[in-house]
Amino acid sequence: MDLYEYQGKELFARFGIPVSEGRLATSPEQARAAAEELGGPVVVKAQVLTGGRGKAGGIKLAQTPFEAGEAAEQILGLDIRGHVVEKLWVERASEIAKEYYLSVTFDRGEKKPLFMLTTQGGVDIEEVAEQTPDALARLHVEPLVGFQPFEARRLCFAAGLDDASEQKQVAAIVEKLYRVFVECDAMLCEVNPLIVTPEGEVRALDSKFTVDDNALYRHPDIAEMRDHGAADPQEQLAREKGVTYVKLDGEVGILGNGAGLVMSTLDVIAQAGGRPANFCDLGGGGDAQGVVDALEVITSDSQVRSILFNIFGGITRCDEVARGILAALERLVIEEPIVVRLDGTNAEEGRRLLLEAAPKNLYVEATMLDAAKRAVELSRA
Ligand code: GDP
Ligand code: MN
Repeated sequence: MDLYEYQGKELFARFGIPVSEGRLATSPEQARAAAEELGGPVVVKAQVLTGGRGKAGGIKLAQTPFEAGEAAEQILGLDIRGHVVEKLWVERASEIAKEYYLSVTFDRGEKKPLFMLTTQGGVDIEEVAEQTPDALARLHVEPLVGFQPFEARRLCFAAGLDDASEQKQVAAIVEKLYRVFVECDAMLCEVNPLIVTPEGEVRALDSKFTVDDNALYRHPDIAEMRDHGAADPQEQLAREKGVTYVKLDGEVGILGNGAGLVMSTLDVIAQAGGRPANFCDLGGGGDAQGVVDALEVITSDSQVRSILFNIFGGITRCDEVARGILAALERLVIEEPIVVRLDGTNAEEGRRLLLEAAPKNLYVEATMLDAAKRAVELSRA
């Protein structure tokens, strides 16, 4: 789960990492009032779950509350890489002398948290890594030993920080960032830029924060931060119905039993020259309600033109699934043609049930490739 900048900064602040004071606003009036309360120049920042807001016009400096209101008017509703801005973070503007970059993430290869620090912050870190890899200091933390203060100092030296006061402040931030990272079960905590003010004060000016979904049960306060409106509407519906679903961008809706089978179904659709609209795993059951829920999610995607059911009967018998499909089609009105491929336990019986009932728009195929070809063909009809 990705957090908004202001949410990440709230967690930073809880652990003592210095951030600027700010307020959330969803209208120009609120932005104006926030600027008034904060006093002095402010920066108005789009809150979207994507980077590069600065370049996209999603960040504006405002000298007065009036200007803050104007900036809010310009930024609200802006489309930043497919994310429409609905919330703003208005914070006290900082004076910037230097921009650094600091992050901690999980290095799966090494099975250890990895810190990265560079004095070339403010820009895309991928660019720094590519063009001046030596400028990027890296440090793994031994998780069983835990974080040691000397490690933060080593990281600062490796990045070439030579000012004693900066070293001290950055080292303290590194230590706190490690605590946030571990205690919040984060996958990534990134500060870009980490700024040094003209007075020599170090502060986090931005935050990118990803929390491990599987650990959210341990953090009800963070789980509450989820913005349901920002999620993909189909995936949101799927989560509510308990359907295992991932939205893709093609035209053939996919439904199968078992994650591996569904993955191969996506490949076969591609092989047949089509594009899958989604990944959807029915799991072990084939009961009517499960099929109804999955079909509702799949057909809520207006890009879907045809649907492919790919069922391999093991413990789940094909005749049961066939009954589930038929019952589901009685409860739902589905406009799109459905192709069904049944194989495995009681496949013949299942196919017979479907052919006898012969619902309109339902096609039965014996093999996966034939079914995929038919579904792709129908998606173009
Ligand atoms: P991003 O573009 O989504 O990464 O958003 P950031 O929060 O990192 O802001 C982008 C850039 O805007 C920063 O690198 C700064 O140069 C600038 N910026 C952001 N906040 C301030 C501020 O308080 N004062 C000044 N002078 N510049 C800021
Ligand atoms: Mn940034």
